[in-house]
Amino acid sequence: MMVELSKPCREPLRRACVALVAACLGLLVTTAAAGDDLRVNLEPGLRAAAGPDGAMCLETLPGTGEGLLALSRRTTGGTAAARAIREANGGGDILVAGRWYRVPVELLTPELRARVVGALHLDGCLAGDGWVHEVAGGEGGRPVESLWQVAEWFTGDGANFATLRAFNQMEDEGLRPHDKLVVPAGLLTPAFRAAARPCAEPSRVGDLRYTREDGEPYAVYRLRRGEALYSSVVVRFTGLTTAADVNALAGEIAELNGIADVTSIPAGRDIKIPFDQLLPEYLPPNEPRRLAYERERAATAGIQNPVLARDLDGITVILDAGHGGKDPGNTYGEVWESLYVYDVMLRTKRVLEATTAATVVPTTRDGRSFAPTERDVLPFSRGHAVLTQPPYPIEDSVTGVHLRWYLANSVLAHAMAHQGDPDKVVFVSLHADSLHPSLRGAMFYVASASLSQGRYGKQGAVFASRREVRERPVVEYTLAERRRSEGLSRDLAESIAGVFRQRGLAVYDEKPIRDKIIRHRRPPFVPAVLRYNAVPAKVLVEICNLNNRQDRELIQTRAFRQQVAEALAQAIVDYYGTATAPATVQTAAAR
Ligand SMILES: [Zn+2]
Repeated sequence: MMVELSKPCREPLRRACVALVAACLGLLVTTAAAGDDLRVNLEPGLRAAAGPDGAMCLETLPGTGEGLLALSRRTTGGTAAARAIREANGGGDILVAGRWYRVPVELLTPELRARVVGALHLDGCLAGDGWVHEVAGGEGGRPVESLWQVAEWFTGDGANFATLRAFNQMEDEGLRPHDKLVVPAGLLTPAFRAAARPCAEPSRVGDLRYTREDGEPYAVYRLRRGEALYSSVVVRFTGLTTAADVNALAGEIAELNGIADVTSIPAGRDIKIPFDQLLPEYLPPNEPRRLAYERERAATAGIQNPVLARDLDGITVILDAGHGGKDPGNTYGEVWESLYVYDVMLRTKRVLEATTAATVVPTTRDGRSFAPTERDVLPFSRGHAVLTQPPYPIEDSVTGVHLRWYLANSVLAHAMAHQGDPDKVVFVSLHADSLHPSLRGAMFYVASASLSQGRYGKQGAVFASRREVRERPVVEYTLAERRRSEGLSRDLAESIAGVFRQRGLAVYDEKPIRDKIIRHRRPPFVPAVLRYNAVPAKVLVEICNLNNRQDRELIQTRAFRQQVAEALAQAIVDYYGTATAPATVQTAAAR
């Protein structure tokens, strides 16, 4: 097949006439570079063409003595389309020998349509689930294909766009250039399916190879010496983290693989993992769930904080210590999450106020002072209140969480009333996790744009009595806002993870920045304090894992909590890209 660039598919009549006249005069016809279009020769006198609007057609030379009706029969299977063909070609009834005539793709016989569509989508291929299509357009001002067009080309009916959208787990109907999506095999026109080129499916990606048994797809991992099923397979490839989740799935995978004793699996043993348990990034490249994941990542990639602020001048930092009051959060014996993350919050506030010009707004307070307790092991307290107006002494953990995002939204609104820029506010929520004891280090959560949809607001006296709730009782964010927020939040989370690593603070090994929480094998979710929060750049930091002995010992030292506070402060300074030397923060904070 030969591919050439020449005239558009549905060019105006005037240009067609000029081309025709030029051809008749024996001149070499070339067209302007901009808006040029794809043409693929199918056989002598037959070629596929796509116009600048993405519309596809067959172009054909009339056969000897062939009239409009005969051409219609040859290309569309009947004469009903003759009139439409005449109109697509400038309205003449008499066909001119040697002139190319266009037949829009939707009129073609299934066989010709499959050939045209297939020829113009050389990048696509047929995978197990269907046709993998890469979206074109965008370059040179060319419109991006629509989901309707994709449905029409490959399934014969544009109305299948809704099925395509659902099958590909799309947030909306918008397509972006180079997005990949799958047209389900069952929807493809039979002629197209027969003509489609199969994908060269990789049999392995990284450390995994892929196989099918009794029609069920599996990834296979070969266990190395010293590796354990729970950490090297379950934690790594499925994203599960809590002890209960990890142990339960490790048990299921052991059974699936006929392993009686999980504590003595020989090195070199192959472990099968069902596809539906895998994180999307470990699926083969053409799986719809992996493509959906990649489209979402592409939609938020490259979004970076646009604000530069030397010494955090003009920046508001909302610091949220999780839990508190009657809600101790995760506990391990006498180590309460609420006490230790509150102390880190106080230390971060102190560092920021001593070394930067940022305005620091805590969401909670215990007692009257914001001074940290100078002790390693912290005394018990249930005195934390959320600093709404009036304050909420934390009785109920869920109410406490919701009042925090109402408070953050109010702080954002008031900051914007002063300086007008939502990107000058950041929100950092501090927590400590309770995970499988083999895991250690910090983990960072941002809000997945695709899981933060919908309208939300709280009712009841405890909410209605707070000024912050009355200011904005219900929230709802557009997909564009959520994507931008996810991108900025990742930027902030990367800054925090980077400073943690630089300073030797442990960061979780596998995928330390996550956009959803997976718990109890239920559908993933975004924590409410992020999900309903209007601050664009927001991160929930799990400082460490209280179930891990090393992490638990560390958090019970002032030195570690101070290091975390200084790292957080530096990360916010870095996020705003100032030239402040790291030493400035450290030195001043050490007082
Ligand atoms: Zn927590």
